[in-house]
Amino acid sequence: MIPVRGYQGQKVAVLGLGRSGLATARALAEGGATPVVWDDSPEAREKAEAAGFAPEDLSRARGLEGVAALIVSPGIPHLYPAPNPIVAKALAEGVPVDNDIGLFFASLATPEWNKFDQPPKVIAVTGSNGKSTTTALIHHILEVAGKPVQMAGNIGRGVLDIDPPGDGAVVVLELSSYQTDLARALTPDIAIFTNLSPDHLDRHGGLGGYFAAKRRLFAEGGPDRAVIGVDEVEGRFLANQLSVGPGDDRVIRISSGTKLETPGWSVFARKGFLSEWRKSRQVASIDLRGIAGLPGAHNHQNACAAYAAVRPLGLAPKLIEEALHSFAGLPHRSQLVAERGGVRFVNDSKATNVDSAAKALQAFPKIRWIAGGLGKDGGIGALTPFLGSVVKAYLIGHSARDFALQIGETPQEICETMEAAVTRAAAEAQPGETVLLAPAAASFDQYPNFEKRGDHFTALVEALAGPPIEG
Ligand code: ADP
Repeated sequence: MIPVRGYQGQKVAVLGLGRSGLATARALAEGGATPVVWDDSPEAREKAEAAGFAPEDLSRARGLEGVAALIVSPGIPHLYPAPNPIVAKALAEGVPVDNDIGLFFASLATPEWNKFDQPPKVIAVTGSNGKSTTTALIHHILEVAGKPVQMAGNIGRGVLDIDPPGDGAVVVLELSSYQTDLARALTPDIAIFTNLSPDHLDRHGGLGGYFAAKRRLFAEGGPDRAVIGVDEVEGRFLANQLSVGPGDDRVIRISSGTKLETPGWSVFARKGFLSEWRKSRQVASIDLRGIAGLPGAHNHQNACAAYAAVRPLGLAPKLIEEALHSFAGLPHRSQLVAERGGVRFVNDSKATNVDSAAKALQAFPKIRWIAGGLGKDGGIGALTPFLGSVVKAYLIGHSARDFALQIGETPQEICETMEAAVTRAAAEAQPGETVLLAPAAASFDQYPNFEKRGDHFTALVEALAGPPIEG
């Protein structure tokens, strides 16, 4: 645990008592503060009680009196579409609002670090898609390299739950836009911006607010190195703003698809090959095509991001290449769950937005596409250019009829449920085709989360009659 510093002897309110909220309350207590905890959900309050905390209603008239700060969980709106009433009260009363990420960065370094040969480093990953994969890949590469490494944030443990890092250790954090928007301290050593596409716009007041939230990770006084995906204009803008000129190698530009033979530092993937360039010369090249855990151009982008993040730590290209080969991939992201009768079944339940679904549709030929759920603002019109690989769509969930209208001429069937979609798609699939779950929608209409949706797909695939499963 990382004891929270700076609040000794003070009351600190914690709003939201999920995994990270409880970890925050514990870390506050460990640092000598008195956590005052609350969650609107009675079940969450029960869990907090079981963990030894006594929830107090922060929404009552003097609920924030004498409180030094309000620490808010990422799932609770702090600004848009409207602040949660308790956050609104803190804003009105001038109580500083922060989150566990802010507390983490403010509390991580200790006087003991002065004795270390190599002070611990923090690598933080943000972006619209690929954060978890990139974070897990960096963690994996560093493990293979024999570095003491921990992974936390949106993946793995809550940030305050990690063990205090020792000499030469690395902490890899996945940070969502909700987290970077609110944290009062954000000081990673290496920060990564994978890419940008519209998502969660209601929570950020639009695309500009969403980008602004992610940019905070790179604010002045920020990282020593910034790894920036420059395939969108926002990434090019950010990279430009962070560097004093084209040769400034504090910024490492990455791309999936564009040659970046710049005088600075760049890592890009083209036609399945990763290249590293520095000072207008190629430094290394890696064939990514046979790496089973990283299928598709989108995963090649993630490979570039992870590669670029660990190179400044002195890791050799050859070692990184070996580690890429042994990366197993993450469940629910382009995950091959079975292959039967020449048909592949791929679980990409995490494709909850249009961009990630577009990437999945480009990663496989001849697709039986299972899509739908709780559709997002803006619809799926942007997928039209990628529907050429779709043999037929099997539409499920709340948005099934909406999606049917939006994909126009593409052969399609409204299936409503995952059971019906898997059964129909499996029955109709021909050898060489891929049955792909890439919903382009959130899962909450039919499932508690995308993991449960992906697990359901996988269980249905495993239960299909037929020859035994490879995969
Ligand atoms: P995040 O943590 O940012 O949501 P994940 O690694 O969990 O990222 O991937 C989310 C979804 O996006 C999955 O459907 C995955 O297949 C897809 N994806 C992964 N990497 C990328 C990328 N670089 N660009 C676009 N989509 C991606």
